[in-house]
Amino acid sequence: MEITDIRMYHLSVPLKKPFKTALRTVDSAEETVVKIKIDNGLVGIGEAPPTAVITGDINEGIRGLINKKIKPLFIGEKVDNIDKLHFLLEKSAVNNHSAKAAVDMAIYDLYGKIYDAPLYKLLGGYQNKITSDLTISVNSPAEMSEDAKKAVEQGYKTLKLKVGKGMKVDLKRIRAIREAVGPEIEIRLDANQGWEAKEAVQVIKKMEEENLDIELVEQPVKAADFKGMKFVRDNVLTPIMADESLFSAKDCLKLLEIQACDLINIKLMKAGGIYNALKINSIAEAYGIETMLGSMLEAKISVTAAAHLAAAKKNITRLDLDAPSLLAEDPVNGGIEIDGPDIYLPDGPGLGINKINNLIEL
Ligand code: MG
Repeated sequence: MEITDIRMYHLSVPLKKPFKTALRTVDSAEETVVKIKIDNGLVGIGEAPPTAVITGDINEGIRGLINKKIKPLFIGEKVDNIDKLHFLLEKSAVNNHSAKAAVDMAIYDLYGKIYDAPLYKLLGGYQNKITSDLTISVNSPAEMSEDAKKAVEQGYKTLKLKVGKGMKVDLKRIRAIREAVGPEIEIRLDANQGWEAKEAVQVIKKMEEENLDIELVEQPVKAADFKGMKFVRDNVLTPIMADESLFSAKDCLKLLEIQACDLINIKLMKAGGIYNALKINSIAEAYGIETMLGSMLEAKISVTAAAHLAAAKKNITRLDLDAPSLLAEDPVNGGIEIDGPDIYLPDGPGLGINKINNLIEL
């Protein structure tokens, strides 16, 4: 059960269409894949996308940290001593959440393989099927309406609209999409820090007056502006969700202590993996706050890890795990099975991933 090797690979996956938010535009997913080997021959798999505008991580940094700092600490350690491995991960460097997340999910994959159980069962086992929303990139109102209609035809009941690129045109976007999809479809918004606090109150109140029926608004203000988020939350009826403001369990405590948000979005790449994500979800649950599990633009390896966590816990009530549906191809054999909005957890041990194609060894 001792770790004998850690290897890394590059994985490039093209997107169906460019992914656009208030923060960035991306044409393909360029990922780091990690394999951790133990002395009985078993291999655990993890993945990290470099999301510099949110986590500060780039591929070179992810790979450098794993190679230079984490690997020397991990070789010879027992892979089922999860607490010790996470102590070592924290010791390796501050921040660097994406590298830590990739290593963390490879450890959990091995943990499941050693005990011959699907990971979601080991983490809590609440359900084996979950349902995701679909993200609509920020574009012209007409293009977003077309994308929204297509998503509804594919069976999606919840759409997440990327906004935050100008208040007036944001309102036009939302009106056009609500009209295009009708009243039955749940619409949530993600401003990706694109508004100022007062502007956010103004635009959200306008949506409320016009009965646009918005389920929640994610990250209306800048990540560090906790007071601004509280100001928005205190002045509108629509639930406010923290995303970029919350990376760690400490952030979660701070936000919930001052009642700055109604909901929180957990992502493995912000939390540094499943181990810390579990802590965040437990804190939220203690405050009576439901969580969403989201992802960056990731391939199916890390999204499978996120799905195992989401399926395991009752308090994770919303899913934004549509990243594999935005990719033009799926290089992963095994893992979650995606049927439109529905995600089925695999029965195999660990993450349940059999093989990854197109890997380039580094
Ligand atoms: Mg978000």
